[in-house]
Amino acid sequence: MSAKYVYSFGGKTADGDGKMKELLGGKGANLAEMCKIGIPVPPGFTITTEVCAAYYEQGKKIPDATVPQIDEALKKVEAEFGKKFGDPADPLLVSVRSGAALSMPGMMNTILNLGLTDASVEGLAKKTGNDRFAYDSYRRLIDMFGSTAMGLEHEHFEHELHSMKEAKGVKLDTDLSADDLKELVKRYKAVYKKDVGEDFPQDPKKQLMLAINAVFNSWNGHKAIEYRRIERITGLKGTAVNVQAMVFGNMGGGSGTGVAFTRDPNTGEDVFYGDYLINAQGEDVVAGIRTPEPISKLGEDMPKVYEQLVGIRAALEKHYKEMQDIEFTVQEGVLFMLQTRTGKRTGTAAVRIAVEMVKEGLIDETTAVKRVAPDSLNHLLQPQLDPKAKNKPVAQGIAASPGAASGMVLLSAEAVVAHAEKHPNDPILLVRKETSPEDVAGMHLAKGILTSTGGKASHAAVVARGWGKPCVVGCEAVKIDEAAQTVTIAGTVVKAGEFVTINGTTGDVMIGKVPTVPPSMTGDFATLMTWADKVRKLKIRTNADSPADAAKAREFGAEGIGLCRTEHMFFGKDRIAAVREMILAPDVEGRTKALAKIEPFQKADFVGLFEVMDGLPVTIRLLDPPLHEFLPQKDNVAGAEEVAKQTGTTVEKIFERVEELHEMNPMMGFRGCRLPLVFPEIGDMQVRAIIEAAIEVKKKGKSVLPEIMIPLVGVVEELAILKKRAIAVAEECMKQAGVKVEYQIGTMIELPRACIAADKIAEEAEFFSFGTNDLTQMTFGFSRDDIKGFMPTYLRDKILPIDPFQTIDFNGVGELMKIGIQKGRGSRTAKHSQHLKVGICGEHGGDPDSVVFCHAIGMDYVSCSPFRVPIARLAAAQAALGEAGKRDK
Ligand code: PEP
Ligand code: MG
Repeated sequence: MSAKYVYSFGGKTADGDGKMKELLGGKGANLAEMCKIGIPVPPGFTITTEVCAAYYEQGKKIPDATVPQIDEALKKVEAEFGKKFGDPADPLLVSVRSGAALSMPGMMNTILNLGLTDASVEGLAKKTGNDRFAYDSYRRLIDMFGSTAMGLEHEHFEHELHSMKEAKGVKLDTDLSADDLKELVKRYKAVYKKDVGEDFPQDPKKQLMLAINAVFNSWNGHKAIEYRRIERITGLKGTAVNVQAMVFGNMGGGSGTGVAFTRDPNTGEDVFYGDYLINAQGEDVVAGIRTPEPISKLGEDMPKVYEQLVGIRAALEKHYKEMQDIEFTVQEGVLFMLQTRTGKRTGTAAVRIAVEMVKEGLIDETTAVKRVAPDSLNHLLQPQLDPKAKNKPVAQGIAASPGAASGMVLLSAEAVVAHAEKHPNDPILLVRKETSPEDVAGMHLAKGILTSTGGKASHAAVVARGWGKPCVVGCEAVKIDEAAQTVTIAGTVVKAGEFVTINGTTGDVMIGKVPTVPPSMTGDFATLMTWADKVRKLKIRTNADSPADAAKAREFGAEGIGLCRTEHMFFGKDRIAAVREMILAPDVEGRTKALAKIEPFQKADFVGLFEVMDGLPVTIRLLDPPLHEFLPQKDNVAGAEEVAKQTGTTVEKIFERVEELHEMNPMMGFRGCRLPLVFPEIGDMQVRAIIEAAIEVKKKGKSVLPEIMIPLVGVVEELAILKKRAIAVAEECMKQAGVKVEYQIGTMIELPRACIAADKIAEEAEFFSFGTNDLTQMTFGFSRDDIKGFMPTYLRDKILPIDPFQTIDFNGVGELMKIGIQKGRGSRTAKHSQHLKVGICGEHGGDPDSVVFCHAIGMDYVSCSPFRVPIARLAAAQAALGEAGKRDK
């Protein structure tokens, strides 16, 4: 700890500056900086965060050496401001405010009007000629000081205020006269004496020291501790304390106060944006008691002041090279700045501001790329609720896929399909307990999806995100009654066909129709992306199963497909019957016959993908889920009847097969590479479809780069057998066609064993793609669909810092990934003198923090949903710039 505990600012000088946020807190550092660049700031001083740390080390005692420095700094304020602290004739009043290195709005204490006493309140009244103002200031001080410094109940003061207003028959505080307020001061002092056991301090210095103590104490108040926990703020020394001469915006028509942003924080437009109130104190603007005026109107009310403020707006932006959020007060025609800090903004505004500031020469391209939080791009990519809409949320679930959707409620995927056939333009919201692959057709037709169970990696969430479709999952307030065809949402009964709206960005659920506005893909957005691409090292691919999704992803900058889940293609209306026939077939002949029906569809799907991705790699994964997912569930008799009709069998036979395929733990059961190992004809059909499609597209003069991916491999032998068989099929296809295509065979790494045995597996695999959904599930032993019961507790009690299905668990799953990459690359180079290409295709591939991790462990690419491609591009650029994690989120 240095020997300097107190830093003065005022006039055009300051002991500190804007870089000293650690020591002076954000507010203190910026006040010093503003003084240095000649912006008018009421004089004051900052007691450092080191003093706060020492205060706690010494058992909640301000270190003795601080006191003379406070006295000296106070003298400087008196000299600069021309008033004396405690002067009964014309007192200097001060504010005492907290201010840590990171902003913690409203979490710590503030006390205003310090220095008023029974004697000086008279002086203030005389000097200002305004009794009302003086006594109002005094009663506010007693209340604020009593409740924050001495821990009294604010309610006790409020009670006095109310009874006074009642007795006088008035509604507003401002209707009380000077005499009323004088009387109120007496009553407040009585409350203080009764609750504290001594008189309200008449020594201003004592008031000041107690107030400083109060700010330090508030650093470890319940609210502040909770805030730091939620925002994951760690490693700060404490709060600084800012003591500053009071200026008053409530001294009549020539005074006022306001808050503003140097640009529009919603759109980013380069306009002065804010509110002010004539004859008011700061808290009146925020409290919403009076409706403030737009800042431009200040130009009419106080033209000179407005002109000065506009000049300050420009000076601050030029100096900080960043959009600022400012507070100011005008005291009898004189303007003072009370605060400046980096302004919070929407994603849309962030992009526009960053790009325009580059064009204005304020910042360079790299700075612009660092400035925008990747996740905030969601704002530009989704339809939004019309900001003018008034509907209030009635429930909240997990925000699973961003954007807003307003639609008529339907309770099953079949109902959605049936409705859409008749009324293709009706907006539909599919509301289910959960979804399964059986529901994809209906999910695809719905505008949005709402489920009452499931988490961020549940089926509904993954599929919706893949399509960029708004989705809220795990909303427990949603109770579905399929028989009655109603859904009850937080007590309100909604019939099928009535409207409900979801906001997948926030998880909010609203009853009724709420208008939405389409996303705007502005030129600035594209510009920022090209700057990001210049610096990133990671390639960005997409998870896509249809040409339309692939085209969308390419439009967003995808450089290939990292995962095509072929099972999604099995659910199409035109092929599901053949898929079911294949599953129900009793023998290999039956299966082969059914597979022959599916093959042309598969081939056509792949042709579509290869055409769209011309010149870019396309990774196609062989069938992965357990087969029972394609059959109706045991209680679904109607579904079974339909399947019986489709496949020419009986309901009994279907249920018999469903029973046979039933598994206790299907996610650890008969799925992944285990399917083609037992039923090789399934794998053969898929490989043939891939290679024949590649040949067909190549013949059209396009460039095809197919990558065949085997899922859920744990031991090299699994891969070796399937690879050998795939090569034989592929060679045969090429021989028959007389055309050669380059293709690769690789594997997903989704099992802990695959990571540990990666050296062996890499002897066979030409590429690795980490399936971190399953890898997380298998490493933790957490079902990816059933974490709702314990994850909130795990996060609350800090058992885990973050949901590992959302951001890679760096210390566990991440370590396994590192081992996998290191062992895999080592053995591939040693055995084949070849670089092993490594990517990720789990949901984490679109999570900015996980992308940074993937960069750090040397992956070649990440693959994510089409709508997350721009987010991954930006996150990868920030990872390359070494800036990720440091930005203001
Ligand atoms: C994974 O497990 O991470 C993965 C991409 O495969 P799926 O989500 O289809 O199981
Ligand atoms: Mg998987």
